[in-house]
Amino acid sequence: MPLDVSQHPCFNSDVRHKVARVHLPVAPLCNIQCKFCNRRYDCANESRPGVTSVVLSPGQALYYLDNLMEKTPEIKVVGIAGPGDPFANVKETMETLRLVRKHYPSMLLCVASNGLQTAAYAEELAELEVSHVTLTINAVDPEIGANIYAWVRDGKRIYRGVDGASLLLERQTAAVKALASRGVTVKVNAIVVPGVNDGHISAIAQSVSEWGASILNAIPLYPVAGTEFGDIPTPTPESMKELRGELRQYLPQMEHCTRCRADAVGLLGAAPNPEHLIQLEKAASQPINPQEQRPYVAVASREGMLVNMHLGEADKFYIYGEEKGRYQLMASRAAPAPGGGNERWNDLADSLKDCRAVLAASAGKTPSMVLEQRGLRVVMMEGLIEEGLDAVYRNLPIRAPLRKEHACGSGASCGGNGMGCM
Ligand code: SF4
Ligand code: SF4
Repeated sequence: MPLDVSQHPCFNSDVRHKVARVHLPVAPLCNIQCKFCNRRYDCANESRPGVTSVVLSPGQALYYLDNLMEKTPEIKVVGIAGPGDPFANVKETMETLRLVRKHYPSMLLCVASNGLQTAAYAEELAELEVSHVTLTINAVDPEIGANIYAWVRDGKRIYRGVDGASLLLERQTAAVKALASRGVTVKVNAIVVPGVNDGHISAIAQSVSEWGASILNAIPLYPVAGTEFGDIPTPTPESMKELRGELRQYLPQMEHCTRCRADAVGLLGAAPNPEHLIQLEKAASQPINPQEQRPYVAVASREGMLVNMHLGEADKFYIYGEEKGRYQLMASRAAPAPGGGNERWNDLADSLKDCRAVLAASAGKTPSMVLEQRGLRVVMMEGLIEEGLDAVYRNLPIRAPLRKEHACGSGASCGGNGMGCM
């Protein structure tokens, strides 16, 4: 049955009061740094892009969607909109889209991206019947773009200034054309930043219309504390109205965007439903692959009170479970002997195959990757074991989480400078 593409509430305002959407927050990393973006916040009351309460694995995202659909069957659109960029997390993004398409064949799929790495996946997106893609394009002149983007990362190279803005623009142009030529509806978001690009939005509208975009969403800057544009006042409603009037000569205008969080769910603009947050947190506390039976949590600890050992130095792991709402020490298991490369981490994954997470004071990139590929989440932290168990079983925050080794700009906690953690 063909998809009914008219049912997307962002692209068709006539259905926005009856059709709901959900954003699945599976994409924490970003590959550029916009000067208005700060993904450090994690506040349920903060409603804007880049903000989410949790990050889910693709399997957890499907688990969440399954539960949501039982109580909110009016969801007809599944989107991936961060909290970073979907194509800076392409494995998770494509896997999530594939899972949703397989389990919900009539669901509309949509993705929101900065466009840096989107064109390369246009074919695959079209094959998956992703019907709507939003690309945020804030400049079509690299001199102006250079004032908006702090850096742009392509593979291992970081580009700044006009070089970064030129590369981004080249990729965004290719992305709009590649998607539109495959029948995907492209919406372009343009953030209107007074004094920076507000006199340039018409040029953006004209260009993206020529490339094949179908609709433009001019979004007033939301000044976020701690960002370079944090002190620039948001454009007035009157100036936005006047601007949209001008832009209409190039493209239809979206005027009902509610600047959703990366984990938004429900009708556009509706107040958050606490039940949805409970479901989201429940999904985040599942094993990476929720269909696996993994009731326990392994802990690298010297004495069984604190999480205080490096994954590689632990000679045994304490195994905890939850019974009648209380954490219980179930066993301790010897760790595989040091050496042997990845074999050692595969052996550890075998020995902990009934555990959904391992708590450790730190862990290297390779062991973390091997264990996570085998469905075992690695949580790096220091402090009481109980606090780590609360984080895994109840999705509560850890007071002293340690950051995983990662690419700069990653995670809801980083607004990095592209040079790695200092
Ligand atoms: Fe820009 Fe990345 Fe933030 Fe999106 S998540 S606004 S692309 S820095
Ligand atoms: Fe739709 Fe705007 Fe929300 Fe994106 S941010 S889902 S375009 S309303």
